[in-house]
Order: sequence, then structure tokens, then C-alpha cells
Amino acid sequence: MLRSRFLWQVWGLLGLTLIVSAFVFGFFVADQVERNSLKRIEQTMLDQAHALTPTLSPFLDSGGILPSEELVRMTPGVTSRITLIDSIGVVLADNKSNPVTMDNHLNRPEVTASAAGSYGVSQRHSDTLNLSMLYVAIPIRSLSGKQGFLRMALPLTAINEQMAGLRNRIYFSAAMVGMLFLFIGYFLAFRVTNPIAQMTEVARNVAEGDYHLRLPADRADEIGQLSVVINELALGVQGRIDDLIDSRNRLAAVIAGLTEGVIAFDQGQKVLHVNDAALIMLGLKVEQVLNQNFSQVATTREIRQAVETCVEEQTNVVSTVNFGSSTFECSCVQMDVGSDEGNGGILVLEDITERMHLEKVRSDFVANASHELKTPISAIRGLVETIIDDPKMPDDVFARFMERIRQQTIRLDRIVQDLLHLSRFDSTDREKSFSRIELAGVIAQVFQAKAYDASDESIQLDLDLQAEKLEIDGEAEALNQLVTNLVDNAIKYTGEGGQVVLRLSKVGSMAMIEVQDNGIGISKDETQRIFERFYRVDRARSRDIGGTGLGLAIVKHIAQAHQGSVAVDSQIGKGSVFSVQIPLAEEVDEA
Ligand code: ADP
Repeated sequence: MLRSRFLWQVWGLLGLTLIVSAFVFGFFVADQVERNSLKRIEQTMLDQAHALTPTLSPFLDSGGILPSEELVRMTPGVTSRITLIDSIGVVLADNKSNPVTMDNHLNRPEVTASAAGSYGVSQRHSDTLNLSMLYVAIPIRSLSGKQGFLRMALPLTAINEQMAGLRNRIYFSAAMVGMLFLFIGYFLAFRVTNPIAQMTEVARNVAEGDYHLRLPADRADEIGQLSVVINELALGVQGRIDDLIDSRNRLAAVIAGLTEGVIAFDQGQKVLHVNDAALIMLGLKVEQVLNQNFSQVATTREIRQAVETCVEEQTNVVSTVNFGSSTFECSCVQMDVGSDEGNGGILVLEDITERMHLEKVRSDFVANASHELKTPISAIRGLVETIIDDPKMPDDVFARFMERIRQQTIRLDRIVQDLLHLSRFDSTDREKSFSRIELAGVIAQVFQAKAYDASDESIQLDLDLQAEKLEIDGEAEALNQLVTNLVDNAIKYTGEGGQVVLRLSKVGSMAMIEVQDNGIGISKDETQRIFERFYRVDRARSRDIGGTGLGLAIVKHIAQAHQGSVAVDSQIGKGSVFSVQIPLAEEVDEA
């Protein structure tokens, strides 16, 4: 489009100038040629007049009139009009008209002019012939010295026709030259406008984001230099854009890799960017969020409110919001989006559900631990104060009080021991103290240690080693504690005459320790909670039989510290099976 318009403009202007120049030049040439031709014709007529002078000058002396036919006869081959005039203007002879009918010619311009000099010339209409004529007159003199004038005349129509032919030829030549100029001009104009069109094309491509087009840099002139500069410009822009795209991609990758949900929006709340984490957290698809107004996005009122406040009040907003069963920490920080109408913002959503849960577990634990410790301490305090207040207390009562104090301190000791165990197995980096352990040995040890306790309670404790030489990487003391706690519980919660089986087997690449009893069992609902710290199904009963509510929590922690897990299968009144799975050491697995 541009190429053609610009090309036509340049060519049109150039062509017009060339054609006008050719015609002006042609006009001047024609004019000059016309003048020269007239001059030549005048000269020819003058020459003719001079040539006829000797023939016609004698008639000046005669003073008579020469008939036209006579004059024609005397001047054979002369086509021009010949007029012989005497010194007082009387026409003595004329080859085209009867001299008698002709008026005095002394005042004719050519005659007047020739009387003053060597000849006279005039162009005008002839009344005699009723034609436009060119007149040339010279003064002549007869041998006797009589003066007169010899006038030659040619009709201008013939001359004009001659001139018109000449002018036509000149104008035709000018037109041909003009055409040639136009043809050359087109190539000249093309040579100038084509590089400009190419430059425009490259510039447009750069503007549209395609930086790969290059201009031919084969010209050494200014246009060639401009092409080189434009090529360098495109290359520079391409480099900078590539850098920008690189850093944008890196940034996008970083944002995409964040576990926090990130949503960027402008001052009008239009969403500019959203990462996958945000979409997953809000349960939305990208098209439901990207480029939408955030107030229309299906989140909670609290999140929308945070974004609205951030944009409208141009302030950072931090709040904790509930979203379904999750809890998010929602922070909205302002972001400069380069608008005069204010800042946009970035909404960062952090899923703090787990953290909140852990915090609750921790605070519950502190409250529970305090409560558990407070009970025996209060009992001891009460007993001690009673003893102090009653110095005359009978010995048997005193002995009973002291026994109760002893029991409470044992209980305190047990709680503290369990808390210490728990905190030990709670700490991370335990694998450093791990060693290769043969599980059957650990289990046999516990079996022996608990055999007496079981028989005290009239419970049959059996050992079932289905697999021998199962090695794991772990801590022997901790594993001993794990099995002891499970066997203790089985004995505690199984009535007299019951049966407890301590079993070791191999399940795939795992070692499985099972403690099975036919005791009181646990309901489905309770099995979900018994691994929580201080949770007991029957608080009073557990306490009476010396339970702290921490035994199974310790079991769970030890199993997890060994990359294992614990599960329970139980039925009220029928008994329970606690099973712990721990990965076998690799070499054992291969053997
Ligand atoms: P406790 O010190 O009270 O025994 P645990 O953490 O060891 O605490 O156990 C939590 C609760 O799980 C117990 O209070 C008891 O109600 C239940 N429980 C544990 N082991 C058994 C079992 N073998 N049979 C029935 N109930 C059990």
C-alpha cells in the first residue's frame, strides 16, 4: 500500500516535472526553430529580391505600368508575390494583382522600413489578396538613378503550415523523450521507494513482535547505511526482548513452582496472572480466573474483600480466611502496574490448615499435660497438707496417706517418663543414631520381660515368630519401648484368662509386628483417636490401671521415626490387633 502510494507520488512528481520540462524545452526549441525558419525565408526572399533587382530596376525609368502577365513572364519560377513600387509609392508592377487597382504603397511598414535602411520586413493581412502575408522590401535604384522599392511577399499560411509541421515533430519528440523519462523515472522512483517500503515492512514486523526479518544491506549509499542501522536496531530489540522473555519465563517458573497461591491483579481488579497452586487451592480453572474481574471470581467474600480493600484503599491487607475445610493466610500486597489510577496488587494464599492443626495439637497437648501433671500434684499437696495440719494423726492413717503419696509420685514419674519418651521420638534427625537391629531379638526380650506381668494378670502371653532374622535400621531401645507399650496395653485391656499373642512376620519388604488380644476391644470411632496424646477411651479406667494416655502416641512416633506405620483392627468385646510395619533394611531384603 505504502509502496505503491509513495512510489506513485515520487514517480508522479518526477514524471510531471520531466514532461513539463520536455514540453517547455520543446516549446522554446520550436519557437527558436520558427524564428530561424522565418529568418531563413526572409533571407531567401531578400536574396530573390536582390536577384530580381537588375531585371526590374529599368522599369523605374519608364514610369509606366507593367502588366502582371508581363511580370510573370519576366520572372519565371518565382512563386512569391513581386511588387515594384516607385519612389512616391505608386505600384508599377505586381505579379498577383493589377497595379492600376492598387493604392499607394509608400506607407506600407516594410516599404517605410526599407526606405530608412537596407530592407524592411512586415507580417500582416493583405487587403489586396485577402491573405496573411510576410513582406520583405528592399530599396532599388535604376541605372539612371531613379529610386524605387522591390517588395517580395509570401502567404504566411504556407509558412505557418511548415511551422506547424515542424512544431508537431518537436512536440512529438518531446512526448517521446517524456515517455522515456517516465520509464526511467519509474525505475528511479522504484529504487528510492522500494528500500523505504522494505524498511517499513521490517519496522512493522518489529512492532508486531517479529524481529527476524532483515533488510538487504547491499548498497553503499545513505539508504544502505540506513538499512544497516535498522538491521542493528531489530537485532538489538530482538536481543532485549529475548532477555525479557527469558527473565519473564524464569519468573513465571518461580511463581508456578511456589506452594503458595499467587494471583496478580491490576488497579481495576482484573486478574493478570494466576499460578497453579492458587487454582488448586481455590478449586478453579484458569479461564475462570485469568483476565476476569476478581470481584466476579468464585472465591469467598473475605478473599474478595481483601482484594477490594487493597485496591480501593491502596494498602496492604493480611488476614486469615476460611475456605471450605481449609484455612488460608491471605496477604494482599500492592504492586505497581504503571497506571496513574493507582496500584494493582498481588494476592498470596498460604494454606495454613496443617499449621493451625499442629498449633492446636500443641496447645491441646500443653493443656492436657498440665492437667495430667496437676492431678497427682494436687493430690500429693492435699495429702501432705492434711498430714501437716494433723500432727496427731494415727499411724495407720498416716501410713495410708504415705502410700497414696507414693502412688501419686509413681504416676507422676510415669507421666514424666512418657513425656520424655515422646519428646525424644518427636525430635527429628533420629536416623543418625540408627543401627542394624535384628527384630526377633527385641521382640523376644519384651516377651520375656512381660511374661511375668501377664501371668500376674492370669493372661496367656504367646510368642509367634513367623519370620526370623528380620533386620531393620533403627534404635533398639525405642523399638523395645514400642513393643512394650503395645504388650502393656494388651495386658491392661484384656481381662483375666485372656490371651495375648506377640507376632513377628514379613509382609513384602516390611517387617510386621502384631500384638493381638482378646480383650475389651475398641469401637470404630475410637480407633481414629486412640493414637492422639492423652486420649483415652475410658479415662478413669485407664488412670486406675496406671495409664497415661501417651502409650500409643509414643508407639506411633517410634513407628514413624522408623519410616513405618501403625494400625489397629478391633471389635468391641472381641479384642484388638495392633500392627506395626517397618521397612526392612535393604541388604536383608535382597538376601
Ligand atoms: P493408656 O495409657 O491410657 O493406655 P494409650 O495411649 O496406651 O493410653 O492408649 C489409649 C487408649 O486406647 C487407652 O486408654 C485405651 O482406652 C485404648 N486401648 C489401647 N490399647 C488397647 C487394647 N489393646 N484394647 C482395648 N483398648 C485399648
